Amino acid sequence: MTTVDLPLLPLGRGRDLTAERGVECPGDLPPASDPTLVARAAAAKAALGEKLFVLGHHYQRDEVIQFADVTGDSFKLARDAAARPEAEYIVFCGVHFMAESADILTSPHQKVVLPDLAAGCSMADMARLAQVEDAWDALADAGIADVVVPVTYMNSSADIKAFCGRNGGAVCTSSNAEVALEWAFDQKPDAKVLFLPDQHLGRNTAVLKMGMSLADCVVWDPRQPNGGLTTDELRDARMILWKGHCSVHGRFRADVVDELRATIPGVTILVHPECTHDVVLKADLVGSTEFIIKTVEAAPAGTSWAIGTELNLVKRLAAQHPDKRITFLDRTVCYCSTMNRIDLPHLVWALESLVAGHEVNVIRVDPDTEHHAQVALQRMLELPGRSHRD
Ligand code: SF4
Repeated sequence: MTTVDLPLLPLGRGRDLTAERGVECPGDLPPASDPTLVARAAAAKAALGEKLFVLGHHYQRDEVIQFADVTGDSFKLARDAAARPEAEYIVFCGVHFMAESADILTSPHQKVVLPDLAAGCSMADMARLAQVEDAWDALADAGIADVVVPVTYMNSSADIKAFCGRNGGAVCTSSNAEVALEWAFDQKPDAKVLFLPDQHLGRNTAVLKMGMSLADCVVWDPRQPNGGLTTDELRDARMILWKGHCSVHGRFRADVVDELRATIPGVTILVHPECTHDVVLKADLVGSTEFIIKTVEAAPAGTSWAIGTELNLVKRLAAQHPDKRITFLDRTVCYCSTMNRIDLPHLVWALESLVAGHEVNVIRVDPDTEHHAQVALQRMLELPGRSHRD
């Protein structure tokens, strides 16, 4: 059976807490023009003291990052939160799937707050549990479900992580995707991998890191009957890539790489593996958010860089490294619109609500989903070698 799925709701409207979708903020937000917002956020943070731990993802705005106790990628932040059990409230300046992961990895007494519930992730939204279960049924009908190992990128909802946990699979980050795939192919003779939800990370890892061919990869389109694939195509494939992508990293184009090489002498092109395969092929360096930050930090003064990742991070790197020429790898502005939902008014509202004793926007993963998602996360943590940072 093919599930009829609804299109994405417009951000900030409607309500669907089961998905990474736009939902309305339940509170009265202070106006963005309020000149006391910075002071109010600082006062609320001080009042909460050790009870509060604020996490800031690298893609967050500077106005929010200034209040973060720690910055990082989604997995690092969730682990940082777990390492602070004295913090009753974890305010996660990031998006919904990150807050879910933090809830899964922290203790039951810790409450994870997402300042704006409309901060979802379009990539995570592209793989809904009902769609994935339909795909799994189709793989069973094709006679291959027994050899398929599901692997999901960290950037997925908790129920997709739980699906992987329940079905012998694991979670991966953009740093350990290669090791996770090696692990998955070792699980069964003639194993195949169902890679969720980012087709680009899956393809780039399979082809560029593991030596597979593009022909080894097929794309499962959840909106087509049988994923748009024949039974023979499914049986012949080694990687079944879910048709999902990041709406930010999917914007970078190979012709812009050519253009920048022609106009900036000696420029090094540095991109995230969520970019499309043709862009990654043209880049000089490919790696996770943490890899991008460390590479720029280690670069000599006077070097030139064109970076293909979210614009808040690229602007911050440019401001922090005025001795290097740092260019954004897109002709237009390219923020993550859902990451940008977390702004100062939402942060102030969330913090002041906690000070007043009102727990708002607490993200809770149900116990069964949490258990199975933890199984998939634990398999990732047990992978050999490599950093688990994305
Ligand atoms: S940058 Fe892409 S993957 Fe990250 S939260 Fe935004 S849409 Fe999702």
